[in-house]
Amino acid sequence: MAVVRGWETDADENIFEQNLKIKFYISSGSTSPSSHNGDEADPVKIVDSAHLPVHTPTIKRKEYHSRILFPTKNKNHRFFLTSFTAPTKCHQCTSLMVGLIRQGCICDACGFSCHTACVEKAPRVCPVPFQQKKGALCLDSQEGMGTAYEGHVWIPKQTGVEKGWQRALAIVCDFKLFLYDMDEEEDSKPNVVVSQVIDMRDRAFSVSSVWSSDFIPGKKKETVHMFKVTASQLSAPSNRYSIPILADSENEKSEWMRVLSELHKLLGKRHSRDRTVYVLKEAYDSSLPLIKTTQTAVIIDHKRIALGNEEGLFVVHVTMDEIIRVGDMKKIHQIELIPHGQMVAVISGRSHQVQLFPMSAFDGRKTDVHKLAETKGCQTMTSGTVCQGAHTCLCVARKSHVFCYELFQSKKISHRKFKELQIPTNVQWMAIFSEQLCVGFQSGFLRYPLRREGIPYRMLHTHDPTLSFIVHQPVDALCAIEISSIEYLLCFKSIGIYTDSRGLRSRPVELMWPATPTFCRYNAPYLSVYSENAVDIFDVNSMEWIQTVPLKKVRPLNSEGSLNIILLETIRLIYFKNKMTNGDELVFPEPSDDRQKQMVRHLNSKRHYSFRVPKGKGLPPKRL
Ligand SMILES: [Zn+2]
Ligand SMILES: [Zn+2]
Repeated sequence: MAVVRGWETDADENIFEQNLKIKFYISSGSTSPSSHNGDEADPVKIVDSAHLPVHTPTIKRKEYHSRILFPTKNKNHRFFLTSFTAPTKCHQCTSLMVGLIRQGCICDACGFSCHTACVEKAPRVCPVPFQQKKGALCLDSQEGMGTAYEGHVWIPKQTGVEKGWQRALAIVCDFKLFLYDMDEEEDSKPNVVVSQVIDMRDRAFSVSSVWSSDFIPGKKKETVHMFKVTASQLSAPSNRYSIPILADSENEKSEWMRVLSELHKLLGKRHSRDRTVYVLKEAYDSSLPLIKTTQTAVIIDHKRIALGNEEGLFVVHVTMDEIIRVGDMKKIHQIELIPHGQMVAVISGRSHQVQLFPMSAFDGRKTDVHKLAETKGCQTMTSGTVCQGAHTCLCVARKSHVFCYELFQSKKISHRKFKELQIPTNVQWMAIFSEQLCVGFQSGFLRYPLRREGIPYRMLHTHDPTLSFIVHQPVDALCAIEISSIEYLLCFKSIGIYTDSRGLRSRPVELMWPATPTFCRYNAPYLSVYSENAVDIFDVNSMEWIQTVPLKKVRPLNSEGSLNIILLETIRLIYFKNKMTNGDELVFPEPSDDRQKQMVRHLNSKRHYSFRVPKGKGLPPKRL
């Protein structure tokens, strides 16, 4: 049996054994979990401890080699779960260990590094005999997985190619081109945050030479070292984007182009299944002035969306381009549809107060507004039902307080506060599922029963030593997902963790983010993780990273992440249409569907919107 360096164990920790026995072991004296005392080979053990220092693999590996003083015969690896600080490839499968923290394991005796999931497949003998070692590059042509090529290149600076070039590490791995920003110093190492990913499985992917007319090159001679990779962006066939890449020499450029096009050909032969889920459609550009300050949005029905911005709340009829202003509220921060109660809640005004009104206000009818006075200064709200839909609930968070209201709608809207909760620190995220309020805050999630009194359930058991790292390195909570009645996915800014109903780890492998997330949105079973340069889509059941949406500065407007705003020079509203759903959730007219509209666009190069105010106000319709 390999030595397992453990923790000071106490009786409490034994409850974790059952949960952890799949891959994570906790030593308790010399005993090992009974289920593995059989005739199988010794299971591989990973030591997972938050107190361990972060490894920088390249430096460490040298140190380790100099420390091997004992005979290496019949030794097993001693794997430690590690946070790598530079992009690192798995010595077993050669793929990149993508992620911000805890990307994989390292043997502290020989430096063999691999994915947590690859530990079982790794050669057992430590150090790995030379003949069993894989090269740095190895593409499994059957599966198409592994690293095919890597090298240093130059990519345009974030501010645009006309501002010059940025040094980058480019790695072709698992049929994706990963680009990591680097400093220009010789010995600098890139950060683990992926700057850009171009998926070669994209139908529109191509690699080609660059003509001086394509980009604005700094120097003419750069053009001969340049090539470009192209992939699709929005759903329109012509809407593609290209990234110019500058190689150090003409030879390197040819080699990159050869590798990328050969791999792309290989992909074509494999007829690989297209795993992408979302098709991107531009709904509006800044010719709809409303979108410039839009903070929040909801889909009302197939043909209408509501937008909240600095000016107020608006209903946009997407097929008619008609806009209705709802009420006279200003500064809409959040819109929440409460379909069960036929109500709408908004957080609005400088005072950040919750206001409720009937859904009929969206039809342009003048309605009464019901204010919740004590919610002033709130940051977020969520709604749901309890008692099998018999009661409608609205929960509103103000700093670390949550007010829980039951809502009634007869002739007028009324409310009753039935609970007030004190959360450990400021509320960062909230949702109601399975009649419980789930609250995310720094380094934790709790589930509060709504129907009855009682203490909250911990969704993350911090006594579990394999989860304690979350508390040791305080991290923001982004969202929690109820995968089934017995499993949850907790998304933090650094990592996603699967837990069971007791708050114990339910899967040994964690969900890894390619870049630092700013928002998470969920539309079952797909999780959209937003970062500076892209939106990455994961299937939360299989844990697969299935799509990268290459859009910069995207912000989600609604809770499912289907309505998004791009905050570039040209502000645009983008609809992420789920290809899997039958029938459109929202019907944006295709330009070809509506010739008249196209003609209007041609004549004036601008769309026209008719603007309607609620009846009874006496103002003439005006054009925006
Ligand atoms: Zn080893
Ligand atoms: Zn691996």
